[in-house]
Parts: sequence; structure tokens; C-alpha cells
Amino acid sequence: MTVDPADVRALLDERTTAAQAQREALRAAIEQTQHARSLTFTDDEHDPEGSTASLDQARDTALLAQVDRTLAELAAARGRLAAGTYGTCERCGQPVAPERLAARPEARTCVRCAARSL
Ligand SMILES: [Zn+2]
Repeated sequence: MTVDPADVRALLDERTTAAQAQREALRAAIEQTQHARSLTFTDDEHDPEGSTASLDQARDTALLAQVDRTLAELAAARGRLAAGTYGTCERCGQPVAPERLAARPEARTCVRCAARSL
């Protein structure tokens, strides 16, 4: 089993589109929460609805940061694909298993190096 760059590009495109859609949804949710909070002037300490809103916002903000990291990783993978270094482990220089790339196309390292960095 070999890695076909065209397949990888399609996979990266698919993931990027999904991540961008998720990003838009999270941004909209965060804005909505902020808007709702600004309208109600809630006191987070005493208002149960206010504290739910800030929890939602904290969760959405954390998710948004995660999606941004994924998008950055996907863009980096695209760069490696263009440079011809895609599918080579950044740490040990060995090829990354195609099964790993299929599951996680933005992977920078082989399974062994990834396990070591955990
Ligand atoms: Zn490695």
C-alpha cells in the first residue's frame, strides 16, 4: 500500500472543509452566547443560566482553539505534500505507515515517535 498524493490532497481538502464548517458554527455559537449575555446582564455567580452560558462559551472557545490547531496542521501537511516530504516522519525520517496517514492525514510523525512524545 502506497500513499497517493492525489488521495492525500482529497483527504486533506475534506478535513479542511469539515474543520472550517465546524469553526464557523463555533464562532456563531460564541457570538450568540456573548450577545445573549450582553442582553440579560446576568450575574454568573448567582444566576444559574448565566453560569451555563459562560460554561458553554468556555467549552466553545476551547473547541475553537482545537479546530484552529487542526486547520494549521492540515495546512502544514499540504505544505509537506507540495515539498515532497509528506509521509516522512519528522523525528526519525522513516516513512509514516499509510494506515496512520489514512486515519490522520495531518500526522507529522510515525506511530513509534508519536507514542514516545506522549
Ligand atoms: Zn518516527
